[in-house]
Amino acid sequence: MLIDGHGRKVTYLRISVTERCNFRCQYCMPEKPFSWVPKENLLSFEELFLFVKTAIDEGITKIRITGGEPTLREDLDKFIKMISDYKSDIDLAMTTNGYLLKESAEKLKKAGLKRINISLDSLDKETAYKIAQKDVLDRVLEGIEEALRVGLKIKINMVPLKGINDHEILDILEYGKKRGITVRYIEYMENAFAHGNLKGLTGKEILEHIKQRYEIKKLGRSGSSPSFNYQLNDGYIFGIIDPHKHDFCEDCNRIRLTAEGYLIPCLYFDEAMSIKEAVQKGDIKEATEILKTVLKNKPEKNRWGHDQNEISNRAFYETGG
Ligand code: SAM
Ligand code: SF4
Repeated sequence: MLIDGHGRKVTYLRISVTERCNFRCQYCMPEKPFSWVPKENLLSFEELFLFVKTAIDEGITKIRITGGEPTLREDLDKFIKMISDYKSDIDLAMTTNGYLLKESAEKLKKAGLKRINISLDSLDKETAYKIAQKDVLDRVLEGIEEALRVGLKIKINMVPLKGINDHEILDILEYGKKRGITVRYIEYMENAFAHGNLKGLTGKEILEHIKQRYEIKKLGRSGSSPSFNYQLNDGYIFGIIDPHKHDFCEDCNRIRLTAEGYLIPCLYFDEAMSIKEAVQKGDIKEATEILKTVLKNKPEKNRWGHDQNEISNRAFYETGG
């Protein structure tokens, strides 16, 4: 069992398999051109898997593959199969922008992927273009249909932004309701890489939009999920992730691994340790020790909440959110 320095049980590993992305979402990527980490600096799937095995043996029961855009990484299905073959009952999920799902959903499902979260910020072609800075909507919608067809469990993530897509909060809800897909609204989290002029909606403002059409019952958070759930009269459940109001730290159960091999104990904390050397020489014992040290030093609270003007220096496309 993995217990951190503050007595919290850690069962959830998020792995960013690449920081590269085929979108340039305004809330995630810098405006100015920048260069990616060279491919040779990334851990191979075999190296990542060595760590995953250790983590599972020690008590990880849930893994989410994320990025950047994880479907850009070649042979992702093989990595998923390695994990699923090692522990078939692992809760294996992925977060994706959906652009490549039409081609990959079936392969990923067959490899053992169980659930996916798909980012869908708009149902309007131009607005989707404005956010992702690319013509993405048709392919993303096709990707969602394909993921449904092959039987993946889906959630939709939307980041509502003032004056950009906030008029679509109800449209996205209706889209989810029609397809039986849970929608989760995520408050925009300020960070050093996003475009400077963005303003997100608070959870309260998001709820106000939905209350214009529906009566809402508060449900609460389920387990350690950061999403606070609400129910409409007809039984449909949606969620809001509102880190500005809640810090989720008390029962945080997660750690993050980047594609370069940095083990990050907290999204809003600069410290991280590298497992790269250990896995590259196949030293499982050392990798396990690093995992335990990172857990021992996992902060009790993130630093973000101390000063609302402080913004994260970690790129979402590096950590996977
Ligand atoms: N590329 C994939 C995607 O977009 O779903 C996976 C990686 S992305 C970094 C993971 C999640 O982080 C997405 O749901 C995205 O909307 C969210 N995200 C990125 N930047 C964010 C920000 N500044 N505030 C809130 N959520 C953000
Ligand atoms: Fe890419 Fe996801 Fe970031 Fe958008 S949110 S730029 S899709 S990594």
